[in-house]
Amino acid sequence: MTEWDVVVAGGGPAGAVCAIELSRRGRRVLLLDAEHPPRYRVGESLSPSACAALSGYGVDLASAGFVAKTGATLVWGEHGTFSTYYPGSSAWQVRRDELDARLLDRARAAGARVQTGARVERVRFDGDRVGGVSWVTADDDAAEAAPRWLVDATGRDGLLARERGLLHDEPDLDQRAVWAYWRGGRRLPGRATGNTLLVGGDPVWWYLPVGGDEDLIGVGMIGAGLAPVTDPATAYLAALARVPLLRELLAGAEQVGPVRWTAARAQTAGQLCGPNWTLVGDAAGFVDPLLTPGVQLAVESGALAGRIVHAGLERPEAAGGLGREYDRRFRRQFETFRWLATNLYAAAAPPPAEPPPAELLAAIPDGDEQAERLRFMSVISGLPAGGLPPLLGGYLQARGAAGRYGAAPPVFGETEGFAFLSWALRRPGRDDPPPASPDLTDAATVRVAAGAGITELTLPPDTVDGAVRQLRAAHNRAGDRFLLTPELAALLDLLSEERSYPDLARQFAARVDAEPDPDAFRRWLQLLARHGLVACRTVAQQGDREPAAAGRQH
Ligand SMILES: Cc1cc2nc3c(=O)[nH]c(=O)nc-3n(C[C@H](O)[C@H](O)[C@H](O)COP(=O)(O)OP(=O)(O)OC[C@H]3O[C@@H](n4cnc5c(N)ncnc54)[C@H](O)[C@@H]3O)c2cc1C
Repeated sequence: MTEWDVVVAGGGPAGAVCAIELSRRGRRVLLLDAEHPPRYRVGESLSPSACAALSGYGVDLASAGFVAKTGATLVWGEHGTFSTYYPGSSAWQVRRDELDARLLDRARAAGARVQTGARVERVRFDGDRVGGVSWVTADDDAAEAAPRWLVDATGRDGLLARERGLLHDEPDLDQRAVWAYWRGGRRLPGRATGNTLLVGGDPVWWYLPVGGDEDLIGVGMIGAGLAPVTDPATAYLAALARVPLLRELLAGAEQVGPVRWTAARAQTAGQLCGPNWTLVGDAAGFVDPLLTPGVQLAVESGALAGRIVHAGLERPEAAGGLGREYDRRFRRQFETFRWLATNLYAAAAPPPAEPPPAELLAAIPDGDEQAERLRFMSVISGLPAGGLPPLLGGYLQARGAAGRYGAAPPVFGETEGFAFLSWALRRPGRDDPPPASPDLTDAATVRVAAGAGITELTLPPDTVDGAVRQLRAAHNRAGDRFLLTPELAALLDLLSEERSYPDLARQFAARVDAEPDPDAFRRWLQLLARHGLVACRTVAQQGDREPAAAGRQH
């Protein structure tokens, strides 16, 4: 019997990429997939990141006859505001049977043994360790193996997570999706011809050219209100008939194949790694179809898991730390997409009660369109609609500048979005405003910010020398990490207790054995405060009145 280093259960993008990474490192890998390719799979719209990662595995998307997309086109609100968003990079709409078969070929070429038509039925545990895996072939033959490691890439079937009771549903994203394919549907005009079209509302619709010999268009709806779908075909066609834009695009088109539906509920596993097992792709967590994070998360988690599992087999003493790092990285991406998706569906709901500022209202068209524009901005920016108005200063400035130089005003909502998004992702706490630069007078005190500290890290092998690295890093409470220079380590050590600013400056100078430039030291502390590493407050001077005491006098 072959001694397998790793059995990968599931041959979608996550499993295939993981098998490639492991095989390239000389591991003996058996990949088992329940179905024979080519097999149908939804999930055709790839993000630019997913495309970049896939080309690194030798999958040439450009030569496969897939549809090039330059962005997304969103139609939002009752008045049908039509905006195309080009994020500045290109990507592809793919046919998943074709893509997944190519990836399995790449796994074979890398040296993995790929067995299709082999459904893993049972995983035997010895305590928390996987002791054996058994599967059944399409001919009903049973087989088993005792690999050193098991990677679960079984998608939303979530073989291990279900067996171990690890799956958690995300109640905010309890969606259902219903879709079908159409021949003869019209494409969007011009540069947007390969774009995914999203039509906002409840449900939200997607209209996606998947190409192929029949130049098919995938048209689907997703929403929380679609449950339970007892007669999906009737519900789908009736809802489709109520969307004038889609009716127009599909005029004369013919439905190909059945109406399909699924509970596209977001879910994640509470534990992603054990002593000799790892969950990847949808088996680790599934977020949402519309923002197209699925294949991206699958490929990136499969790749990272491949490197980590290999390193864990080589250095069992580092496996625990590597697993924690994998868990952290997966969840960080998952959380970002979960947050964006929650916001996207909320933006389909009524506009915020909070009134936008007057100068913003003056800058965009009148009436209901203002609310629609705000909701559209919310969708592309990733910020809740209620949080948007105070942050639109950039647009107002650009508009003011255009006016001064006699240029055409910028189109509201087409360029600002990702700037807000990246600002939002840098924030130490998602719900707080960014910390302002503290006013560091002699009356100020400084301490370590809540949730900040020093973490011991085990970093996965990099692609240069394949070495596992152990290091210490400073972190804020959002989990952002910062290089722990000797100066930063000395500062955080001194701040194990709250200190007055002048005392801190003196102690720090003694600790680093140098007299820092007072201005540079102040600016450094302000920078650390803005990144959520230290917190400063001003203590009331003698003679100052406590606000509460002042209040009591009246
Ligand atoms: C309606 C809908 C639309 C979507 N649209 C998009 C999109 O446009 N873009 C995007 O990026 N993502 C989209 N997704 C998500 C995307 O489909 C998935 O995130 C992606 O396929 C995950 O890849 P994976 O390798 O983890 O799992 P999968 O692709 O699901 O692969 C899992 C594999 O495991 C096999 N398997 C299952 N159980 C067993 C077993 N017991 N033994 C052996 N093999 C097994 C299956 O046969 C399958 O091949 C969409 C999802 C839905 C529900």
